[in-house]
Amino acid sequence: MLQFTDHPMVDVGVAVILDHFETEHPAVLTDSQLKAFAEYLERAYQTPYFASYLSVLFTQNSAYINPTMKEENRRQELDKVLYGYLDKQAENPYSCVFCGKPARFRAFRQHIPLITGVGIINFFPSRRVGVEICPYCLLAIQAFPLGSLKVAGRTFFVHADDVELIRKFARKFKQRNEQNLLLQDVKGGIDGKYAKTLFLDQLLEVQKDRRRPASHLAGSITVYHLTNYGTNADIEMYHLPSQVVTLIEELQTASYLPTWNQMVRDGWRVIPSGKKKQMDEEEPNAFFHKNELYEDLFGLPENFRDFIRKHILVGMEKRVNQSRKGEPITDELRYWEVTERIVGGVAQVNLDRVEQTRKLADKIVDYLKASNDHRFYRQFFNGSDRNSHRSEYEQFRNLIIKTNDKVIREAKKSGKAPELPFTFDDFIQVFEQWDETGSDWRLGRDLVLLRVMERLYKENWFYQNPEAIHNVDSEQREELV
Ligand SMILES: [Zn+2]
Repeated sequence: MLQFTDHPMVDVGVAVILDHFETEHPAVLTDSQLKAFAEYLERAYQTPYFASYLSVLFTQNSAYINPTMKEENRRQELDKVLYGYLDKQAENPYSCVFCGKPARFRAFRQHIPLITGVGIINFFPSRRVGVEICPYCLLAIQAFPLGSLKVAGRTFFVHADDVELIRKFARKFKQRNEQNLLLQDVKGGIDGKYAKTLFLDQLLEVQKDRRRPASHLAGSITVYHLTNYGTNADIEMYHLPSQVVTLIEELQTASYLPTWNQMVRDGWRVIPSGKKKQMDEEEPNAFFHKNELYEDLFGLPENFRDFIRKHILVGMEKRVNQSRKGEPITDELRYWEVTERIVGGVAQVNLDRVEQTRKLADKIVDYLKASNDHRFYRQFFNGSDRNSHRSEYEQFRNLIIKTNDKVIREAKKSGKAPELPFTFDDFIQVFEQWDETGSDWRLGRDLVLLRVMERLYKENWFYQNPEAIHNVDSEQREELV
């Protein structure tokens, strides 16, 4: 009986077969239905597109493509690989390594990608070469290429804790392959280039179809990208942990969506092709172009500080520069709230510390609005003066001490009690205690800066105070990220 096994290739294959019969339950499929499916598979795999694709996936020795195999042998092999469940007489003492049911076949790398070839005894007990497999799992593995895509010359497919998600991806890729089947020329096939970008793009599309309340994403997702080609057989796995999956889902909700959309737009790397150089920028397409935001989501939570700098701080800076030139303010951008979600929810930083950071930033905003101290803003933003002999940290600490000092002196002159922008507790909690996250005071600085920029941006402070960012070379900053 066909069943999900938690093995990615088997599960994607089962999903393809379920989609073919538009049913949700593998147990209801009869052997004669599976036979009809196998016949469909044979036809599909003889098309030019798949003949080329399968040579990478199942090697040239596969019965689907081996040009030197005699017709009679080819038929015998396909009968075993695709129709084994029809032979009720076959006996075998071994169990299927995927589902545990009686095995009927020993598979090699022309049947299952990434295992060893015929006659290779490494990794098998008692010189019993090959992988024991039942006819149902074997059929599912033969079906899985239909539920995958060719990306950068390799096979790309998606496995998840959530079976519905596996089925949605398999269906989407199968629909595209059904178009590829019609091609006479292999080169006309639409193949992807960047696995991680393409995955995120397709995930968001899949999620749009799942609008019912019970269809929240749950659990983790793994993207597989493999080749079984010649001596270069190889696999890459990209894992999205559940807290990142949850983040992506949350960022699609109404309050975060404008910010997310802006981050996605900023993330595209569209290099205009020769002739189009003079024309407007090409429309980004996940099959051809890379999106740095999509790619970098796979680095979370470990790289959360770089992520925030590259995708949030630099984005905020672009908006600030636009507002300085008089472009309208986009009120619905919520970079700070997105950052809070990443720092608190994904990187699991104590929320009290995030709140303390926000409060400090708000005090700095009040200070800047009251004083218009552009020099302070520039120095806080730029971090360090490369010509100084002091370390970046020393310069930063001095800036804070000097600013407090300045406030005290001015308060004295006017006879009022000073309102210090920075207290001792602020300094310790916001700039000194990030060690457990693998970061240092710069993370605190980035977060404060982000919040300060966002608040001042929304009040159009930079348009009224253009000299505050007069000396800032944003292009240079972007390179540093
Ligand atoms: Zn099995």
